[in-house]
Amino acid sequence: MSDMLKGQLLAGKRALITGSTSGIGLAVARAMHAEGAQVILNGLGDADEISKLQSELDAEFNAANLLDPAAIETMMADIGNIDILVNNAGMQHVSPVEDFPTDRWDAIMALNLSAPFHTTRLAVPAMKKKGWGRIINTASAHSKTASPFKSAYNASKHGIAGFTKTIALELAQTGVTANCISPGYVWTPLIEGQIPDTMAARGLTRDEVINDVLLAKQPTKKFVQPEEIGALAVFLCREEAGNVTGANWSIDGGWTAE
Ligand code: NAD
Repeated sequence: MSDMLKGQLLAGKRALITGSTSGIGLAVARAMHAEGAQVILNGLGDADEISKLQSELDAEFNAANLLDPAAIETMMADIGNIDILVNNAGMQHVSPVEDFPTDRWDAIMALNLSAPFHTTRLAVPAMKKKGWGRIINTASAHSKTASPFKSAYNASKHGIAGFTKTIALELAQTGVTANCISPGYVWTPLIEGQIPDTMAARGLTRDEVINDVLLAKQPTKKFVQPEEIGALAVFLCREEAGNVTGANWSIDGGWTAE
């Protein structure tokens, strides 16, 4: 990339990134802001921390709880037209299927799968009218393969991969692309949070979970960095990526190559 282009790739674009108060979503928001996009943050968290992020990124913020379809409708009406939609908010729960709490199943489906449906259906009309749009869904290596004790998560992520392919086909001639990014293990609070449950479900120590369960999956033996995902998301928004649609981009240290 020439220096002249650096920082301008997304100038004039408005980007909603769900679940951007932490982890991968925040890294995507930072990467898009660095390329000139007007960023709209969304997510849960401490009000002071969020207002610091807003200042850092000169960002708007919408506090919608994406478990609630009515709150999503209000958010999409409030923020107005967007050029880039990154459906990233997600949650995990680790448990054998026979003990899997039914309320956790419902919440994971609502956040990981139904929320992207609602934001997408509400964002698409304006994108089609403009003849340009980018929809990026944070799926997972678990959209392509499975691990035990993550039944709801794996089902939701396989679901978002199918949803993404479907809308890519529907929108193929409109200038709007839709793609998944599928990370392997990225060191974020979501991963940190599942270590105790995995220790319990598998009877392992913390170090064993990190080395023998998590990194065991990734041939590179390295956690993916959130910034690497930000860079891929920016690429998918470039004009040169206009013919990249319906794809499911692995960024998993080789996990799903095996
Ligand atoms: P994270 O826990 O750091 O961030 C999750 C974000 O979602 C936060 O901003 C949180 O506030 C927001 N969120 C949670 N519940 C919400 C709700 N009800 N309404 C609105 N926002 C809500 O997690 P992360 O690791 O950055 O995960 C982001 C995405 O990446 C998820 O979809 C996750 O499944 C996916 N992913 C993560 C990994 C990984 O290893 N961390 C790997 C593959 C895929």
